[in-house]
Amino acid sequence: MNAEIIAVGSELLLGQIVNSNARFISQQLAGLGVNVFFHTVVGDNPDRLRSAIEIAEKRSNLIIFTGGLGPTKDDLTKETIARHLGKKLVMDQEALESIELFFKQAQRIMTENNRKQALVLEGSTILPNHHGMAPGMMVENDNCIYMLLPGPPKEMEPMFLQFGTAALSKQVKTDEKIVSRVLRFFGIGEAALETEIDELIEHQSNPTIAPLAADGECTLRLTAKHQDMQIAQVMLDEVEAKINSRVGQFLYGYDNTSLVAELMKVLKEKKLTITAAESLTGGLFQQELTSFPGASSVFKGGVVCYTNEVKQKVLAVKKETIEKYGVVSPECARELAENVSALVSADIGISFTGVAGPDELEGKPVGTVCIGISIRGKQIVVEKLALGGSREAIRSRSVKYGCYYLIKHLQDSQKAN
Ligand code: ATP
Repeated sequence: MNAEIIAVGSELLLGQIVNSNARFISQQLAGLGVNVFFHTVVGDNPDRLRSAIEIAEKRSNLIIFTGGLGPTKDDLTKETIARHLGKKLVMDQEALESIELFFKQAQRIMTENNRKQALVLEGSTILPNHHGMAPGMMVENDNCIYMLLPGPPKEMEPMFLQFGTAALSKQVKTDEKIVSRVLRFFGIGEAALETEIDELIEHQSNPTIAPLAADGECTLRLTAKHQDMQIAQVMLDEVEAKINSRVGQFLYGYDNTSLVAELMKVLKEKKLTITAAESLTGGLFQQELTSFPGASSVFKGGVVCYTNEVKQKVLAVKKETIEKYGVVSPECARELAENVSALVSADIGISFTGVAGPDELEGKPVGTVCIGISIRGKQIVVEKLALGGSREAIRSRSVKYGCYYLIKHLQDSQKAN
């Protein structure tokens, strides 16, 4: 099945919003083993939409539309498709009732044009909208499948996951099972990762390897197709082994995990407690940790030591250390990590000190970051980084690096024992 995504909305063409719907749907389709060959964006104009549909029909047998299902005059997607396919729009009673209920619960008066949202293409499978009003729908015509989804991502994404993928799976006429695995990497850039596995990517067919980079992390989505699910898993194992022989040292987890989630897992497994002394990250690390339910079993509390005064008074950083090396220094990071773990009696102390910008500090350039890690007061490591990006990016990437180093050090110390 070859798919094309047509995002409808003049605001996309005007650059007012980014076409994140296409990204989301493409990612999901990759998991289903459906090829996506084209992304199209078209304004709220019936003639141009029709011409986009005619082009898409020539090269794709699944066309997914997002946007233009709302109640206003410029919402023309289903009207245009109905006219193009020569299909009627009929009232879907269930969708109408759910729209009426929405207005009743919100104690708002329902205007006539809201009824329009409950009109669906005759003969279509309805995709219920549990997060908004306009239902989605899917209809087949002349060996081409047309799926219509609402524009707002908070409506479109759950609709696609809950109902769209199931409806599509029935249409994918194959005995083959599709299995996906996402490998998550940190500490290596997208370009370097791709260079290392270039030859594997070039010769990929089944399994496929799809790289993606976001928020300082890289992922590889591996997708295998086979009639036998277990063989598909073995195919993934084999390609993963080849990837890991080249870049395995940067692999930290699979699928929907995150660095902080992996760190929590390691701490819980090893029954270790942690604390933090945060300067440039201002509590971000501790906020991330405490976003997990049950964090209190590993996290004891910590210190946001933004000023020199707090570093000295609360965490007993020596005056000489600051005078001689400055606060953005491996020496200061080391004292912060050691002293905070002693202060809170935690197994691990981690510290973050650095220059988030926009101005340099102590003659050190923006992006200089020192991360101290003290494990049971014995093993102490300090990592020095030169990060790029905005103030926010530097702060959030510092936290990611902190988690990454800790995971690696804890794993390495286990291997050493
Ligand atoms: P509504 O009922 O809200 O009008 P709709 O299905 O008619 O929904 P649009 O009116 O086209 O959808 O878009 C509504 C909003 O959804 C847009 O203002 C935008 O915030 C978001 N949106 C639309 N298309 C996309 C897209 N391709 N990517 C990301 N967001 C989008």
